[in-house]
Amino acid sequence: MNMSLASFNVPDRPANPDVVIVGAGPVGLYAAARLAQFGASVLILERASEPMRRGSKALCVQSDVIDLLDNVGCGHPVREAGCAWNLSRTYVRNTEVRTTRFDAGPTGTPAFVNLPQWQIEDLLRAAGERTGRVRIVWGAEFDGLEQDAEDPDPDRKVDIRFQQDGAVRTVSTTFLLGCDGVRSNVRETLGVEWLGRVHADRFLIVDAEFDVDWPKERRFWFDAPSNPGRQIVVHPQPGRMWRLDWQLPKDCDPKAEIAPHRIADRIETLAGTREHRLEWASTYRFHQRHAARMRLGNVFLLGDAAHALPPFGARGMNSGLQDAENLCWKLAAVLEGQAAADILTTFDRERFKAARENVAITGKTIRFMVPPTRLHHWYRNALVRGAARFPALNGLINSGKMSTPTSYRGLDTVQRRTRGNLRPGDIVPNLSLGSDALRAHLAGGFGLIAARQSPAGERIEAALPFISRLGVTLIWADDAEYAASHKLTDLLRQAAAPALLVRPDGYLAGVLIQDIRAELTQLLKPYGIRPAPVSGPSDRTIPVAGISGHPTSTGATQ
Ligand SMILES: Cc1cc2nc3c(=O)[nH]c(=O)nc-3n(C[C@H](O)[C@H](O)[C@H](O)COP(=O)(O)OP(=O)(O)OC[C@H]3O[C@@H](n4cnc5c(N)ncnc54)[C@H](O)[C@@H]3O)c2cc1C
Repeated sequence: MNMSLASFNVPDRPANPDVVIVGAGPVGLYAAARLAQFGASVLILERASEPMRRGSKALCVQSDVIDLLDNVGCGHPVREAGCAWNLSRTYVRNTEVRTTRFDAGPTGTPAFVNLPQWQIEDLLRAAGERTGRVRIVWGAEFDGLEQDAEDPDPDRKVDIRFQQDGAVRTVSTTFLLGCDGVRSNVRETLGVEWLGRVHADRFLIVDAEFDVDWPKERRFWFDAPSNPGRQIVVHPQPGRMWRLDWQLPKDCDPKAEIAPHRIADRIETLAGTREHRLEWASTYRFHQRHAARMRLGNVFLLGDAAHALPPFGARGMNSGLQDAENLCWKLAAVLEGQAAADILTTFDRERFKAARENVAITGKTIRFMVPPTRLHHWYRNALVRGAARFPALNGLINSGKMSTPTSYRGLDTVQRRTRGNLRPGDIVPNLSLGSDALRAHLAGGFGLIAARQSPAGERIEAALPFISRLGVTLIWADDAEYAASHKLTDLLRQAAAPALLVRPDGYLAGVLIQDIRAELTQLLKPYGIRPAPVSGPSDRTIPVAGISGHPTSTGATQ
């Protein structure tokens, strides 16, 4: 598509796209680019009239999510433009009570990269544009929908109403993704309950440029000397920019707090200089909520529309992008007729678990940071003061648990297994294998990892025609290309199994031990993946829902 996305003007009835997404925030934009890569046509409806290129929202992208951004060609530019960090320090007044060093990801991706959300959105928009299958309609406000099924069904349509230029317009689609943020109109229209609450405490967030010799680390103060009795968080940004976050007094006047001279005072007490360029300042209260369900019929809720989290721990955008990664390959498989619609119910179960886990983890942090009762307050203060003197207490200090991918262990969407450190439902480390990472080798499909020179390898060789009809990519751990590094054989050892089935989103679906054909069929059952007919090409290498334009698999692929 040659036309600029920004200038696209939707006709009264745009051609029916495979998927409509409401909201061009990071989650909607990632989902659009990913779906388009899988070959789907996507229409995004966005209420804003143009992209917003300022402002303080998400900043901190975790290593595993940078790997997701690699799927759509945005990981590298995020690493290049962002500020990498791996050290978090927590202080009580001026005493450092906790130092946490985070490991880089298996591909060498820094533990965290800080880059303002709007810059990530710019990259994702460009990624969608490159596919030629994503259209964004600006100034288009979602207004309502109709669908007549509770179960997902690719043969039914969702009819969507939206307002643009004062006119009501309609569009029909197979699947609708509500990525329209905390006040999601899609969620409201579905009548899905929004559980949880908004906290009363207020915080001031500032992005400002100034000269200071601070290290590029996350720093958190309880009872900060320049904010007595309250907290401060400092995050590095690229160049001279810093993200500063102050807890405000309960009775503060939010308007007065963002007055330029007040901000200059605060920066001076913290950084020792009044000289600064203010990029953004706002006050916020945080939500701690999640939707009662994340799917109804052919409509899905993702990102902040499904879960709204306090920012401490950087779980909002990170978990929203993980929602999208979980859903997109499943939608693509259904749209391509390679999987039954049941696969879509696994999204709700898996990501609902993640949403509840993230709400629970951030809830603990918030109870520690802003104790709800006098007793909690007393306990927290005693602990942080004690930690300044007794290092053994440091582990109990909670200044935000940084985001990591949720495990789906124990859900019926993955195999149940109690052996091994790496278990079904865990994310498989995205190992660096030669010039590509493991997930790039999977090329958007399922992958089977085993050693060729092993009894399991022999059984797999015997089942090759069946495996290739499933479109599963085969990776031999002992092939010359990978054997020297032992990375894949270590993976088999960690899982205590001779063969692993890895999903397109990098999660371990299960392990195979004996009867490859029967076990593979069983493992793929929750996803409704069907083998191609026997009359089909027996040596096809197309992965399930294969990604067009993605690097093809290596010689290890059968
Ligand atoms: C201060 C702060 C710091 C944060 N820091 C981090 C961090 O470091 N790391 C992290 O992972 N997360 C962080 N977050 C959270 C992160 O910003 C959100 O989780 C993220 O923006 C969610 O993305 P989204 O695409 O789901 O929703 P949004 O970004 O809210 O996008 C929703 C889009 O939908 C559009 N829209 C809304 N209603 C309609 C409608 N009816 N019709 C059409 N369009 C509509 C909106 O205009 C918007 O463009 C932070 C949040 C805050 C407030």
